[in-house]
Amino acid sequence: MMKKNVIVILIDGGRVDFVKKSPNFIKLQKNSIFFPNSITYAPYTNASMHAFISGSYGNRNGTYSYWHSSNFKGNEFKTLTDYLKESDFSTCFDGHSDLILPKKNFDQYFVHNENEVDLVKKHGDLLREMKHVNDENKNFFLYLHYSQIHTGLKNEVLIPFDNFSKEYFDDTEKNKQRYLKLFENASSYLENMMSLIQSLEFDKNSIVLVLSDHGVSIGEKIGERGYGAFCYDYTIKTFAYLQIPGIKSDTIINQIRHIDFLPTILDLLDIKIDDSFSEIDGKSLVPLINKQNYTENIAFSETGNPLHEKSPPKIPNVKSIRTSEWKLILNEYDDTKELYNILKDPFEKNNLIGKKPDIESKLWTEFLKIERKSLV
Ligand SMILES: [Zn+2]
Repeated sequence: MMKKNVIVILIDGGRVDFVKKSPNFIKLQKNSIFFPNSITYAPYTNASMHAFISGSYGNRNGTYSYWHSSNFKGNEFKTLTDYLKESDFSTCFDGHSDLILPKKNFDQYFVHNENEVDLVKKHGDLLREMKHVNDENKNFFLYLHYSQIHTGLKNEVLIPFDNFSKEYFDDTEKNKQRYLKLFENASSYLENMMSLIQSLEFDKNSIVLVLSDHGVSIGEKIGERGYGAFCYDYTIKTFAYLQIPGIKSDTIINQIRHIDFLPTILDLLDIKIDDSFSEIDGKSLVPLINKQNYTENIAFSETGNPLHEKSPPKIPNVKSIRTSEWKLILNEYDDTKELYNILKDPFEKNNLIGKKPDIESKLWTEFLKIERKSLV
């Protein structure tokens, strides 16, 4: 018997507060499991996606900065692509850069020109091509990267402003409107993809995962005009929609991590974790989906704040450790810490460092456990 196919649609720079208000995403919610609290390892593309595909944090898998895609330890960390290729899936990637995911075990690896591409057409063609693969009794894994929010931001925010431009931080309404325009294009792309998925009947035989690699600033905190400088929730807290044939829709508000999707997909496909490789950091979400016993896991994120430099450092200098309720941020570049009650203070405005020693010390202990396994 054939397994289910796997389709991943990555909305680069998609914000969770915007998806919650978008009719197309709300529609998607009606036939998927919606995770509105999925925490990314890194608030920038390459490290986020390497963590996703390997189920492991970048401080172990080797991709812990913008500069480290080629340092991914593919011999120690088995990726979703590796697993699916080994199960005889046809594997295909399309994205705007070859730094997003390791090429290994992708049969087809397309890099589109983000300034010229028509992604509705390109990704539509790839979905139709996969129908032929399926018709020949072969499974497929298709990874589609929607790059256009990132492309718009690059031209309209990242190039004209820097992380401290007064003009940018003084007009958050304008930033919001600019982002909304880019987001609406993403939403209409998604609607196209989802209706094609339905008309090709992939909703009946495929696991479809729609998620974002990180959010984007609209001017919340001076020092970050885009993403990748800080570990605040507007970039590290993102979303995921998991559509599984035969499993009814749900909203799961528990904190989960992007690294949990590798073991979850393998679990759903009945593929065993290969223990001849390094142990992964992620945990299967299937018990949570099935409302069985589930304990929330700590979420770890990190990034390299460029401060006043043009490009980010090679080693992370901002880290965060998070539960559903609390977050400890470690700013290693100036040796300060921040503590937030993210349930009561979701915009992280009231720094409680020094005021909740018990909570701080618990999170610190969790942080040390992760740091002990770190390469850097
Ligand atoms: Zn990105």
